[in-house]
Amino acid sequence: MADTFDLTVIGTGPGGYVAAIRAAQLGMKVAVVEKWTTFGGTCLNIGCIPSKALLHASELYEEAAHSFGNLGIEVTPKLNLERMLAHKDDTVTANVSGVEFLFKKNKITAFRGVGSIAAPGRVLVTPDNGSAQEIQTRNIVIASGSVSVNLPGIEVDEDRIVSSTGAIAFKQVPKRLLVIGAGIIGLELGSVWNRLGAKVTVVEFLDRIIPGVDSEVARQMQRLLQRQGLEFKLATKVKSIDKQEDGTLVARLEPAAGGDMALAEFDAALVAVGRKPFTEGLGLDVVGVALDERGRIRTDARYQTNVPGIYAIGDVVAGPMLAHKAEDEGIAVAEIIAGQAGHVNYAVIPSVMYTSPEVAWVGKSEDELKADGIDYKVGKFPFTANGRAKAMLATQGFVKVLADVATDRVLGAQIVARNAGEMIHEIAVLMEFSGSAEDLARTTHAHPTLSEAIREAALMCGDGAIHI
Ligand code: FAD
Ligand code: NAD
Repeated sequence: MADTFDLTVIGTGPGGYVAAIRAAQLGMKVAVVEKWTTFGGTCLNIGCIPSKALLHASELYEEAAHSFGNLGIEVTPKLNLERMLAHKDDTVTANVSGVEFLFKKNKITAFRGVGSIAAPGRVLVTPDNGSAQEIQTRNIVIASGSVSVNLPGIEVDEDRIVSSTGAIAFKQVPKRLLVIGAGIIGLELGSVWNRLGAKVTVVEFLDRIIPGVDSEVARQMQRLLQRQGLEFKLATKVKSIDKQEDGTLVARLEPAAGGDMALAEFDAALVAVGRKPFTEGLGLDVVGVALDERGRIRTDARYQTNVPGIYAIGDVVAGPMLAHKAEDEGIAVAEIIAGQAGHVNYAVIPSVMYTSPEVAWVGKSEDELKADGIDYKVGKFPFTANGRAKAMLATQGFVKVLADVATDRVLGAQIVARNAGEMIHEIAVLMEFSGSAEDLARTTHAHPTLSEAIREAALMCGDGAIHI
């Protein structure tokens, strides 16, 4: 009889591969099952990593064309899209082979094929060709991730009408790109193609962009993105898209509240209206694993489903669909299975939108504090008053620190800035230690850095900033 594994993980995205590695480090005999040809899941293959490769390259292209001259560097950049896409593909390859190396290093056995649960303790692996194989295992972690949501009346062909997967692989820059959904995917990938020369129109059902993000930040970002050339049609929905014989797409746009329809022509369309948990083929109905009303696998605080020995983490369970949230749940579930006290602090999960400038936030927004009736104070410092930002010609944006009036404890922060995604972590660490705005303000920050703006914002929660 085949060996019994301590743990079998289905799916090797950031949730699954991190759970497998931590479990192996804790002494477990671990198997992973992956249906794709490479490891790393959505994030490494078609999500975070390739999109950031294109965001970085397109931002430099845009800067070379429009900002370098102000720094005394005269260049006329020429786009080589094929090379840019090759850079993206090379970045993906380097990352996914890194996961393969880590599996070998940690003596994790990898099975290729669709994993389905025949019973607690039994996973069937069905490869594309070949017969199914059964794995005996003491515990199972489901980390099957998520897939894009489709819209009725709009058929995604990944050529002209694409999800994010097609939008990181356009072979030429579409002249007119329709982006449906002003969430993070729509704005990041809309920014990429706008910088490379597309006329981008973003149609959003709600009357604001990036729902869930502090509304002052969303308003500011809408203004900045408009200045970069993105056009927004808010409170509008796309009813259908017709493909003409010459390839032109004709979209029927309708006010969200109903009313007269308008037609608009595009060369390509990106559907970016959210992602949904992926549970197909896992055999959950066979073993009776319960889902919630949104199709996510239900778990308890220890990531265990209603079936003992079967756990679930990452995008397929509740919570923000973020790679680092999935990773931290991967570590926590491995520690819990090993008998330790794994834990994720959901109140302090930073988020970053990698536009230009970047937007980063952690903890509560002002809207949430108001809704919760919490008495808070605001320290807000603009980058126009930061020396390093001036030297870098990166004065767009601000830092906002939100602290409790009674205790001075930092409750949340928002940063709009060139390096916001790197800067947010000092506030995350502070919040993990229940720190106050005064703690932040009394911490010496190196000069000249963009991070000094965080300290100044913290000072504004007390006696006032120095440089404004
Ligand atoms: P996934 O990464 O989705 O991995 C699931 C894996 O399970 C896949 O490899 C799949 O093939 C496999 N699988 C599923 N079912 C089976 C089965 N039955 N048998 C075998 N294998 C199976 N998040 C961030 O934090 N930062 C970002 O910058 C960011 N950018 C993104 C950009 C884009 C364009 C997209 C689409 C997403 C982005 N995300 C980002 C979100 C991030 O990718 C997800 O939150 C993350 O990948 C979730 O990890 P996961 O392990 O839960 O699932
Ligand atoms: P999202 O939920 O962030 O945004 C979708 C947007 O589409 C919303 O603004 C919504 O109101 C709008 N919408 C929904 N239906 C619509 C319709 N019919 N017409 C017009 N607009 C409509 O989803 P997303 O941008 O697709 O991203 C999916 C997930 O991937 C998110 O959870 C996000 O966290 C994750 N992601 C994260 C990053 C990052 O961390 N940098 C990057 C990309 C994706």
